[in-house]
Amino acid sequence: MNCETCATYEEKTVELKSTITCPNCGHKKAEMMPTNACEFFYECEKCKTRLRPLEGDCCVYCSYGTVKCPPIQVGSGCC
Ligand SMILES: [Zn+2]
Repeated sequence: MNCETCATYEEKTVELKSTITCPNCGHKKAEMMPTNACEFFYECEKCKTRLRPLEGDCCVYCSYGTVKCPPIQVGSGCC
């Protein structure tokens, strides 16, 4: 593995760095996703809006991030 922001999840390589864009103010923040849990809530550090996943998405990274969460990346479905 030659990627600083990657990890092995269920024997596949996944990208952990995801940039979340706040739908309220447009603020962007790169976050490292945990592989052991999904984040359902995320508070924008700028406008303090508490983001929640859109309907049908399992976590805030799937809805607002540039990279979807590890379970989705490996195709194992919702976390
Ligand atoms: Zn915001």
